[in-house]
Amino acid sequence: MANTFREGRYWRVEDVPGKGKGVLARENLKIGELIFQDFPLFIVPSAVHTDSSEQLDDYLEAQLQDLCLEAKEAFWDLTDSKSQGPKSSRGIYFTNCFSIKQTTTVEYPTAMLPILARLNHSCRPNTEFHWNDELGCDELRAFRNISQGEELTNCYLDLTIKGRITQQERRSLLKSGYGFDCNCEVCSLPFNLLEQDDKLRVEAFNLSQTCFDLKDSLSSEEISNVLRTAERWFFLRKMLGYKVIHQLEAAEVVWHLAMLLGQEQTALNISREGEVLAGIRYGKESIEVENWKEKRLNPVKSLIG
Ligand SMILES: [Zn+2]
Repeated sequence: MANTFREGRYWRVEDVPGKGKGVLARENLKIGELIFQDFPLFIVPSAVHTDSSEQLDDYLEAQLQDLCLEAKEAFWDLTDSKSQGPKSSRGIYFTNCFSIKQTTTVEYPTAMLPILARLNHSCRPNTEFHWNDELGCDELRAFRNISQGEELTNCYLDLTIKGRITQQERRSLLKSGYGFDCNCEVCSLPFNLLEQDDKLRVEAFNLSQTCFDLKDSLSSEEISNVLRTAERWFFLRKMLGYKVIHQLEAAEVVWHLAMLLGQEQTALNISREGEVLAGIRYGKESIEVENWKEKRLNPVKSLIG
């Protein structure tokens, strides 16, 4: 029987030149395709997730003891970029854990997701994952059409945060956090294109600040200006290949401002985009798609509700 931690219908763990191991597409994948569902080896409550406590070591040891042999091997096969010398469970955990948002708790526990953890990083990834709390797993979907044999990539950093914008900033964070030099398609652009890319990312960041810093009482002319800013912000996040979740964040602002100004066509257009984007990240049957559909079909009700 195939090792479920090494291959599935659409993916397979393989050697990737210059990167060690990675995950490759086994067939052509369409945008929005569900590539895999990854169930945690174990979940670590946020109170136990600390840098120094022995509590974490004890917790990890207990969790590892409970795993079957195949799962144990999958854990120890993951990269440890934190330990000096031999791999440690703590080092593997901190290199590979993912925050998850469970509806039952206000905290953000972390999960060891054995397949998702195998994806290498790109500043312009071709997949996106989200935690499906109902099923208790992370779901990975294709963010664009992917060819058979292409490497599946995930973005390790939230690139919308200050200090993670330019190539230099991203590279230095990835080096210190994960120990590699990023040579993704964005970071390895030729100098003039890279300079342009950096500039647009800085612009997108500055626009986000304008949109987040909205005051309560604005004239319709001021709202109209912010709407133009938000439209440009959404356009840039889309063009630069920011994660769907970040594109949706900008789309939400555009929709809201357009509704406040009574610009029905703009609201309709962005709700169509939102619906498509939500389908890519969350799946076509998701509540997020329903919410965007509602914005399109019953905009006033959605605004008030
Ligand atoms: Zn990069």
